[in-house]
Amino acid sequence: MEFATFADRAATIEAESADLEIVAHVRDLLAEAGDDLPIVARFVQGRVFPAWDSTTLDIGPNTCYEAIARAAGTNVDADDVEERLADRGEIGAVAASYDFGGQQGLGAFMSGGGSGAGGAVDNNDDQDDRNNGGNGSNSGNDSNSSNDSNSSNGTGDLTVREINDTLTDLAAAEGSGSQDRKVDLLFGLFNRCSSDEARYLARLVLSEMRIGVGEGTVRDAIAEAFEVPQEPVERALQVSNDYGQVAETAREDGVDGLDEIDLEIGRPVQAMLAQAGTVTDALEEWDEAAVEWKYDGARIQLHYDPAGPGGPDGDSNGETHVFSRNMEAVTDALPEVVEFADEHLDGPAILDGEVVAIDDDGNPLPFQEVLKRFRRKHDVAKARENVSVRPVFFDCLHADGDDLLEEPLVERHNQLESVLAMGPQQEPEEIDGFSLLWVTDNPDEIEAVDADALEAGHEGIMLKNPDSAYSPGRRGKNWQKRKPDVETLDCVVTGAEWGEGRRATFLGTFELSVRDGDDLETVGKVATGITDEKLEELTELLEPHIVAEDGTAVELEPAVVFEVGYEEIQTSPTYSSGYALRFPRFLGVRYDKDTAGAETLERLETLFES
Ligand code: AMP
Repeated sequence: MEFATFADRAATIEAESADLEIVAHVRDLLAEAGDDLPIVARFVQGRVFPAWDSTTLDIGPNTCYEAIARAAGTNVDADDVEERLADRGEIGAVAASYDFGGQQGLGAFMSGGGSGAGGAVDNNDDQDDRNNGGNGSNSGNDSNSSNDSNSSNGTGDLTVREINDTLTDLAAAEGSGSQDRKVDLLFGLFNRCSSDEARYLARLVLSEMRIGVGEGTVRDAIAEAFEVPQEPVERALQVSNDYGQVAETAREDGVDGLDEIDLEIGRPVQAMLAQAGTVTDALEEWDEAAVEWKYDGARIQLHYDPAGPGGPDGDSNGETHVFSRNMEAVTDALPEVVEFADEHLDGPAILDGEVVAIDDDGNPLPFQEVLKRFRRKHDVAKARENVSVRPVFFDCLHADGDDLLEEPLVERHNQLESVLAMGPQQEPEEIDGFSLLWVTDNPDEIEAVDADALEAGHEGIMLKNPDSAYSPGRRGKNWQKRKPDVETLDCVVTGAEWGEGRRATFLGTFELSVRDGDDLETVGKVATGITDEKLEELTELLEPHIVAEDGTAVELEPAVVFEVGYEEIQTSPTYSSGYALRFPRFLGVRYDKDTAGAETLERLETLFES
């Protein structure tokens, strides 16, 4: 397809505001794209590479301004381009405002060289010649370059394929002189552009297409253009993240072909996302919840194939790939994850997890530490000496040739367990890097998992629908991170219980009360969110205030105030206030407050009403 045709269609789409009309225009564009369908399906979204591919053009705005300036004439420089940008607000309008009429001179020069702008593309070393060509052309172009009218006609021979190939070459340029090479290649393209072509080329290059075509539009357009239902298109897109491949498959092989698009080792899928939720809602909705620790690190997707060819991005780690939540390749930054795969995996697998920074004892460090490692490109070994990381996997998308996206979470987790235990036979608890999962309808058990997670230095818990499929890129109800406490309450501690077993010498399960005039009324008990170390400190603090004991129960004179979080306030006959805190959590001692500063029943009532 000629790039002029693409630009013309893009302009029509941009001028359209009705969604259905936009889909119809994109449908027509895809239908007429011929052999260039995969390229057109990407370009129309402003992408040069498939969504799964981490390759970038690595072109800063200045490189683009410079190329535009050079194509615009001798009296234009990158500063002029930037000035126009300040005036017009977007690079497409700026590019379209220049007259790249100089292409005449260059065209003559190039055709003399026998390769059109391909000379600029193919011949890396003849920059002087090109400059001469450019300069030669500019003599006739001076007046045009300062003229804002859209009068540039272009050479009319640019195709989307040539642009795609040139930009692919450009992305591959690296090392010294690569920025100059990029400017050269871009100049070669701009110099042959009409106004409209320049508008969309500039936007494509700077990832600012913005013609109102999102992923949903292309999905619908593919379905319409090639008369296939939306659902298989959607599934194929989720699995491949490649609009080009999906469009071409829909056209060539219809639904059957789409159904055959599977996950591939080395081609990342979008991560399933979580929304905030509460234990109360999760249990109400699903009856049982799958509960896991929430690790405070960075999301990773591990792809491993012991017999793989090295994967499409050709990365040097051969068959192991690690991707970020945004499908960016981060393999080289995380050798620990590569080593983990070598050690624990025997067959092809795609695993979803988190990479966590750890201290010398293996305890988790705050999220900021992981960032020192996550996208690092240089001095990885040195960085590893300062901060090491370890992966923890909580999901399995592919195991031994089978895609598992449609399988229920519990089944995927079973697969994860067997995939990780494939090497030396191990109990799941023993597998470092395996996230345990508890399926329960018992809120106390959930609280216990939460307390253990916090005690182990993690963020808290995730609540997942045990029956749910893996939905790439979706932030839905099926995965919930426990909501942080919106409100906290400062309650007086009026009682406690001696613990059991290894906690027998500690006070635990603290009774909480609020003030009602001169009285104190109970609102609940808090036992979770407290580490052994903290329990020892609290026992020391509270023991002197014991006024009565009955079995393991102790009564305390009101002296100490706890800050507690909770999920909600309910009316309750159990406590003397008439209210109960659901899922109270210990957050800390208010050493700065005495009991007179604690919460009142009145405030509890107000919070309940609201
Ligand atoms: P947030 O980043 O706060 O939206 O929380 C969701 C993120 O928590 C996910 O994208 C993961 O990176 C991370 N996470 C940590 N532990 C888990 C887990 N067990 N299951 C799912 N996601 C987890």
